[in-house]
Amino acid sequence: MACSRLRQRCDEQQTRSDTPMAAAANIHNTRHTTTGQRPRLTLVVPCYNEALGLAAFFDRLTPVLAQLPDYAHEIICIDDGSTDDTYAQLEWHAQRNPHITLVELSRNFGKENALTAGLDLADGDAVIPIDADLQHPPELILDMVKLWEQGADMVLAKRKTRNDTGKLQRWLTQGFYRLHNQLAECHIPADVGDFRLMDRQVVHSLQQLTERTRFMKGLYAWVGYKQVTIEFDVEPRRHGQSSFNARKLFQLALDGIVGFSTVPLYVWVGFGTVIAALALLYGLWIVLSTLLFGISVPGYASILTAVLFLGGIQLIGIGVLGQYIGRTYKETKKRPIYLVRRLHRHTPSEITTP
Ligand code: UDP
Ligand code: MG
Repeated sequence: MACSRLRQRCDEQQTRSDTPMAAAANIHNTRHTTTGQRPRLTLVVPCYNEALGLAAFFDRLTPVLAQLPDYAHEIICIDDGSTDDTYAQLEWHAQRNPHITLVELSRNFGKENALTAGLDLADGDAVIPIDADLQHPPELILDMVKLWEQGADMVLAKRKTRNDTGKLQRWLTQGFYRLHNQLAECHIPADVGDFRLMDRQVVHSLQQLTERTRFMKGLYAWVGYKQVTIEFDVEPRRHGQSSFNARKLFQLALDGIVGFSTVPLYVWVGFGTVIAALALLYGLWIVLSTLLFGISVPGYASILTAVLFLGGIQLIGIGVLGQYIGRTYKETKKRPIYLVRRLHRHTPSEITTP
């Protein structure tokens, strides 16, 4: 399928406007208007090699959604290029549950992009991204919906405990949050991931952020809106392993900092100034000491140290520049963030009440 952004296929979203002001004018918040229809809740579930756990996921999710009879709901499952039979499993569930919309991406694009695909298609009044591995307890959806009904635009689910990760990872994660929040203009709350409820207006805003390097936590923070936090205990993964190894986590952290702050670029101005000032003072000292004490044997070690130190500093500076130039290059190519191989959505007549 040649299309890239699912939103282009959504009739309702074809009315999207280019300016934030015009987009805001298009939004009818069902919490405040009576359309006569049930409000719609959309779940977005990115799935990558989750075949073993999908049955348990739907078994736990279905009774939760049944407790929200006043809502129409849709479960958008995105198969992010799985290599196991995740797609076949999802298809099996979709044949039995008309609320399931199935999207298959053409390959593995990564969680951030798979989520973007789901959010592009999501047109509910409230949208909830949730992981398929049951680390996000579906029961929390009920509390989220309550808080949304009370007026929150975004309900964040904050991990109370982090039993799913080791001590070193927890320590590095805390360090990342601190560094990010020092450098970036928008603060990301610690221990809050993608599991959250977003009002339609928030999702519309996210859909306008078309950058190619996706760091969703940063994008959620950037759009702002009225946020409320609730806490939950993260559960251990039921089946399989996390797809986020150390390299991927480091890449994500780098995307978070480079994508939301230009401070690393400016830091080199400060470094360069300090080093140049020190070099000038050292030069003055050499001139003075030569005048006062005569020429001494030049220090081979100090020259080598200075050359290596400056070389190292310059390489780091070039590396930081490279991070930004690489991302600019990616943006200018304007490649789609994901490609869709298949999309199956039930027609309204197929969807009966839960
Ligand atoms: N996921 C995805 N694409 C990927 C990696 C992960 O869609 O390339 C999905 C995965 O199936 C799960 C969610 O993203 O539903 C979270 O992934 P995972 O459990 O591996 O991450 P963690 O919980 O360790 O952050
Ligand atoms: Mg997980």
